[in-house]
Amino acid sequence: MSAARDNRSMTRVTVWNEFVHEQENDAVAEVYPDGIHATIAAALEERGFETQTATLQEPEHGLTEDVLDETDVLTWWGHAAHDQVEDDIVERVHSQVLDGMGLLVLHSGHFSKIFRELMGTTCGLKWREAAERERLWVVEPGHPIASGIDDCIELEEAEMYGERFDVPQPDALVFNSWFEGGEVFRSGCCYRRGSGRIFYFRPGHETYPIYHDEEIQHVLANAVEWAAPADDPGTSSSGNSEPREDIDTSDDRTVH
Ligand code: ZN
Repeated sequence: MSAARDNRSMTRVTVWNEFVHEQENDAVAEVYPDGIHATIAAALEERGFETQTATLQEPEHGLTEDVLDETDVLTWWGHAAHDQVEDDIVERVHSQVLDGMGLLVLHSGHFSKIFRELMGTTCGLKWREAAERERLWVVEPGHPIASGIDDCIELEEAEMYGERFDVPQPDALVFNSWFEGGEVFRSGCCYRRGSGRIFYFRPGHETYPIYHDEEIQHVLANAVEWAAPADDPGTSSSGNSEPREDIDTSDDRTVH
């Protein structure tokens, strides 16, 4: 077993899914019989990560304090039931991200409460369901999330997402998508909020077998590794601070 794999086995991933389409729609159940979360979790487990799953229907949506305390990276898939996610659970996830938990927001998760709160924008975009070809071009080849991927990933059938995607300018843009119908989209966006790393990854519509694709699974594994908190994050402090150099501190205009 390689060193990288050893590290991965220590990274704990919780794969969250609203798990609605799979239980209500036969076409979706055919592609993801045990739910999108089961497919993603199995793919990450296969690549050496310690994984568990959580769904909307579980008490506290499966995201209890204990579960999140033991989660290094949370992945989020939602579409039809964003509004059913309780606000206090969103706040719990938010504060964990600020404390350093990694977050992967997948596909239609762009409209989730947690992603919109972290971005502070509408996160709106154009969309079309026409089983179009998509090419995800690697635009940051040195980035760890693109490691092992050639020029681009080709998906034969995808839902189109088009610009403008109303998100803040990403810290790094790893993938840029082209669609058969002509649109383009920023498909792999990296952000930092507080101590946490966030990666938005576009592919993954529920009626197409996107999460069964080896290259997509490979990117998800790279992204988990990238988003995992550092083993030793340091202890940088904040608040009122004594000067490191000898300065005159007699200024008496402070009102604190
Ligand atoms: Zn979709």
